[in-house]
Amino acid sequence: MNVQLQLLIDLQHIDLKVHGLDEKMHKIPLRIEELQKGGDIQKHEYEVKVEVTEDIEKGKRKKELELETKESGLAKLKNQLLSIKTNREYQAFLHEIEAAKAAVSQLEEEILLLIEDCEAAKEQIKKARIELEQNGKQINNQKQEQEKELERLAQEKQALESKKKSIQQQITQELLKRYNKIREYRDGLAVVSVKEGSCQGCFMSLMPQLFQEVRQNSDIYYCPHCNRIVYFKE
Ligand SMILES: [Zn+2]
Repeated sequence: MNVQLQLLIDLQHIDLKVHGLDEKMHKIPLRIEELQKGGDIQKHEYEVKVEVTEDIEKGKRKKELELETKESGLAKLKNQLLSIKTNREYQAFLHEIEAAKAAVSQLEEEILLLIEDCEAAKEQIKKARIELEQNGKQINNQKQEQEKELERLAQEKQALESKKKSIQQQITQELLKRYNKIREYRDGLAVVSVKEGSCQGCFMSLMPQLFQEVRQNSDIYYCPHCNRIVYFKE
């Protein structure tokens, strides 16, 4: 194997690996953002539940105040009943008292229902809070894992970069320049193997004469169709 060719093959291998690492590293912040978003949505749902419960409680308090007013009105009516002189007035007062009593018991019923609603809503909040805390922990763990993974990938990339540097230093300036140029125009792929007579970059067939030469791996050859550097792989 031609030494320069082997170096180019190694360089291409490293460049592809670095590209793969870059793609993985790029996805991690997006994944972290997604995790965060999921957590925020759940938090918002929890806050809505709390608001609904607060509204029920407010409604209940309002009814309780109404009940107090109605009860004291009823007590007043009962007191006034003692100083009534005529039968007609008495009947009218009794009527008013009955209506007030009905209103009081109606309010009492409504308040009981609201107390039940409030308790159910509070129970839901309790459950939701536990879930929120558990999910929050899980999200934090997953975020930490992603951050660790990012660190690990960055280290792997750094190791590859230093390996790449030492390989680049051993390749002639001219070849390296050409390699980089091909990579630029050929989607990051400058060195490809030839399989069954076909360039594995553009999948076009090589002329038999050229293929025979490439088979030796003893010099640098280029695919006549895509200009990539080609080598033979058993
Ligand atoms: Zn080709």
